[in-house]
Amino acid sequence: MSDKKINVEGNEKKGISLSTKIFLALIIGALLGVVIHYVMPDVTIGEDTSLKNDIIIEGVFYVIGQGFIRLMQMLVVPLVFCSLVCGAMAIGDTKTLGKVGVKTIVFYIFTTALAVTIALSVAYMINPGIGLDMDSIQKAEVTSNNTETKLTETLLNIIPKNPIGAMASGDMLPIIVFALFVGIMLAKLGSKASTVATFFSQFNDVMMEMTMAIMKIAPIGVFCLIARTFANLGFSAFQPMLKYMGSVILALCLQCFVIYQILLFIFTRLNPLKFIKKFLPVMGFAFSTATSNATIPMSIDTLDKKMGVSKRISSFTIPLGATINMDGTSIMQGVAVVFIAQAYGIDLTLGNLATVVLTATIASIGTAGVPSVGLVTLAMVLNSVGLPTEGIALIMGIDRILDMIRTAVNITGDAVCTTIVAKQEGALDKEVFNEG
Ligand code: ASP
Repeated sequence: MSDKKINVEGNEKKGISLSTKIFLALIIGALLGVVIHYVMPDVTIGEDTSLKNDIIIEGVFYVIGQGFIRLMQMLVVPLVFCSLVCGAMAIGDTKTLGKVGVKTIVFYIFTTALAVTIALSVAYMINPGIGLDMDSIQKAEVTSNNTETKLTETLLNIIPKNPIGAMASGDMLPIIVFALFVGIMLAKLGSKASTVATFFSQFNDVMMEMTMAIMKIAPIGVFCLIARTFANLGFSAFQPMLKYMGSVILALCLQCFVIYQILLFIFTRLNPLKFIKKFLPVMGFAFSTATSNATIPMSIDTLDKKMGVSKRISSFTIPLGATINMDGTSIMQGVAVVFIAQAYGIDLTLGNLATVVLTATIASIGTAGVPSVGLVTLAMVLNSVGLPTEGIALIMGIDRILDMIRTAVNITGDAVCTTIVAKQEGALDKEVFNEG
């Protein structure tokens, strides 16, 4: 399960942190874009080259911004493939833990699917992307596969005839199926295939390092992408962005403070308020680091000392959850899909929405518990319903703050599940939970 050990510190060096830089780039880019839109006069150079449109907006901003997006896209197939192989290997290991393993995994998958459904419902209530006309400034081709395909064909297409072909054309669902299959078989073969297992683990680490390296230039990419958006759209772009943030935060709060607490109460009869109060410091830590992985020791310790959850259960369920259970991330992805579809004027069918629930749930397994990876796996969810991955640019600038909140939700989901499983296995000391 060490497949996702990543240099957590890599993102936050002394001086201005990367997240602050991205946030500043977002603000300055948006302001500059607005100034260009409203104030800058349109000067023509030579015959008919406009300094404002052709050179600045559709030249410099477009090329640098899209270059950055391409770097992210470059990682999608190898990153998702490796991290799913590793995730499935981790699940394969759980066989040794029998009942606890199966229960935990079923619970993790169930809460994630529920989370995406809540996210889609909230997004369709608020309609964050309506009013943002990306279509008018979209240059890259929108490859919508919304054309009606038969359900039988859609189902069959999940099984790749040729896995390499699926990877070459970026068909995510067949890639996922193949990756899960490989991972489970590797787990089954154990030491007989340890070289291959290590290869995927290490390749996964390489992909994570590449993600971190590319994220270092994110401030420049974000600056150009946002400046281009606002230079084209002016103030009309602000409101949809705020609505997007509001939708994600609302859905995250519903999941964390309503759904989890109801589940906790139904299955354990414990006091949800007490749970939240005792777990709050861990949530605060997850919030400030945006890294599920880093909170593993603190979660296990808090569950043990303050809630009476035996380490016998938590030492298995918490690291597994930090690897495969990302309800907060899948909420962001659900809302982002609706936001991007609306911004590009693409209608999603019910079938598309079902695909989103499925792929976002799987993306949650493939998302490593470190900052920003949810954005990379979002590309896979967008691909699965034919939405343009360029849309990620719209939300990238404001993602760090959402990343912090969703990470807190991610690890709360792991802790709630752990407490429920511990209660059912007789590994919960109620006296410790009720103390203090
Ligand atoms: N930062 C998240 C976590 O560590 C992952 C993500 O959504 O990017 O849980």
